[in-house]
Amino acid sequence: MRVLLVEDEERLASTLAMGLRAEGFVVSAATNGVDGLHEALHSHYDVIVLDIMLPGLSGYEVLRRLRGAKVWAPVIMLTAKDGEYDQTDAFDLGADDYLTKPFTFSILVARLRALIRRGAPERPVVLRAGTLALDPAQRTVARGEAAIALTAREFGVLEYLMRNKGAAVAKLDILTNVWDDHYDGPLNIVEVYIGYLRRKIDIPFGTNTIETLRGVGYRLVP
Ligand code: CA
Repeated sequence: MRVLLVEDEERLASTLAMGLRAEGFVVSAATNGVDGLHEALHSHYDVIVLDIMLPGLSGYEVLRRLRGAKVWAPVIMLTAKDGEYDQTDAFDLGADDYLTKPFTFSILVARLRALIRRGAPERPVVLRAGTLALDPAQRTVARGEAAIALTAREFGVLEYLMRNKGAAVAKLDILTNVWDDHYDGPLNIVEVYIGYLRRKIDIPFGTNTIETLRGVGYRLVP
């Protein structure tokens, strides 16, 4: 399994590289955004570990350009604790996971293995249901000509429903596919987000795209 590690803190980078090699990964390392982007564009990687604060190009910019170039290798972003950036920004740009520094090595390895198992998803051009269109690559949603701004989580819920359009989807399915494994809050968070979505994609347009199936969950009307 090939891992690209883009991290400018030398000690952290060399510790991670050494540890990952000991775990059986093939590791390439870059210490700035420009080199990291070049590596990711020109070689195949099963997963990319991408620091956000990098010299040259920020991790966000590297990720944006990678997705723009249709490189879909799973990306785990390393976020600093200072809160200048957060995971929402990372997900908005198409990251697959994130870790806040400092993190323990075993958690990084577990997350990398989970991402590799999941593989680089096929990211189709545009998902459609009636006049509703969702572009997973550009992270945009529109109803007809009207662009709709969604938060990262709302986008995740809608994307999951659209990928399963016409099918009954249980709340738990949504939760396990949209929230990360570490979420241990209540299941009705899904209802809350369905409500947010309806206020953005349906109510203003007089449509009813998300049906409630009592006792089951939801169905996106195709
Ligand atoms: Ca850094």
